[in-house]
Amino acid sequence: MQLIDTHVHINFEVFQGELAEIANRWREAGVSRLVHSCVTPGEFQSIRSIADQFSEVSFAVGLHPLDTKLWTNETAQEIHDLAKLDHRIVAIGETGLDFYKADNIEIQKEALKSQLEIAYQLNKPVIIHCREAAAACREIFLEWGSKSKPIRGVMHCWGGNPEETQWFLDLGFYISFSGIVTFKGAKQVQASAAMVPLNRLLIETDCPFLAPVPKRGKRNEPSYVKYVAECLAKLREEPLETIAQQTTQNAMELFDLPVNLDVN
Ligand SMILES: [Zn+2]
Repeated sequence: MQLIDTHVHINFEVFQGELAEIANRWREAGVSRLVHSCVTPGEFQSIRSIADQFSEVSFAVGLHPLDTKLWTNETAQEIHDLAKLDHRIVAIGETGLDFYKADNIEIQKEALKSQLEIAYQLNKPVIIHCREAAAACREIFLEWGSKSKPIRGVMHCWGGNPEETQWFLDLGFYISFSGIVTFKGAKQVQASAAMVPLNRLLIETDCPFLAPVPKRGKRNEPSYVKYVAECLAKLREEPLETIAQQTTQNAMELFDLPVNLDVN
């Protein structure tokens, strides 16, 4: 069985000194590729050195909506230039809107639109973080689409209800489920997971956050993406092998990942 964890943050300090063991575990679990997300362009070197160490890691560059206090007149150019610097960069992000604790909604919107433009110019997909902001995200994407600029991307760590899920499916997005879908109380997310067409489904850990059941509350890591896949198989009443095979293929397509794996 092969799996792709489409959203990790293994450059965070909490993993320091343990990456070799963590990589052994993800390989044992069948994780053949990982997409490393990016919360600020300042992380570029640390993420790149992880990709140097582990050939199965591709990565993104972007600015997270909760870090938009760092957004300046130069940030868009910086992200644009960094994205062209390394062929292993497969996406722009994570960007998006997070209204959960936000006091900077206008800057978040500006940073999102800017990063959509970069992704469009460089013909790369976007990784979208959307929390308590589905209607506002949708509005920006609809406006973007009306300028006949198509968006390719993923709604990552998806936490929306079925109606919101349908909005983003209609806009052409892939929907990526994290450990949240395994939580007992997450009925809306589980209903969303059951309705996403197989060819738009992705899986991720978003580690170190949100470890899936049965590891809930612990530090999350890429090998645990198997629990997300198992949960989706159960919810959707589909064989685990189908979930693994199709989410792998979807990730390869969206991020245009290399097929020749150099993994032991
Ligand atoms: Zn993330």
